[in-house]
Amino acid sequence: MTRDPDCIFCKIAAGEIPCQKVYEDDELLAFKDIRPAAPVHLLIIPRLHLPSLNEADASHQALLGRMLTLAPKLAREQGADNGFRTVINTGHDGGQEVYHLHLHVMGGPRPWKHG
Ligand code: 5GP
Ligand code: ZN
Repeated sequence: MTRDPDCIFCKIAAGEIPCQKVYEDDELLAFKDIRPAAPVHLLIIPRLHLPSLNEADASHQALLGRMLTLAPKLAREQGADNGFRTVINTGHDGGQEVYHLHLHVMGGPRPWKHG
């Protein structure tokens, strides 16, 4: 499935729910997290509806690589020029709330809300 009609991030990717977009291309979209845990808190998502890292396979390797290599570029552009944290929460015990794969990119001067 490339799109799940009930998925909030699919709706954001389709422009049906607004977001503070910081980057987009054919495959990826990046926007500001609505509840930032750090001064810079971005989410990088694939346009493709992939529920989590649990569903990723070899066919997604290039996409995952692109998500990771985009992170430092966007972190720098958003002013997180002294380092950043990348996080992917997976499944219930991983603390995942939105089941559309996303890479958290958090940075900016400390202290942060959640350390
Ligand atoms: P998870 O716990 O699934 O890794 O993180 C989901 C993240 O998505 C949370 O940090 C939450 O603040 C963010 N989020 C949830 N709904 C929305 C939304 O509608 N817009 C934006 N920009 N972020 C959202
Ligand atoms: Zn989705």
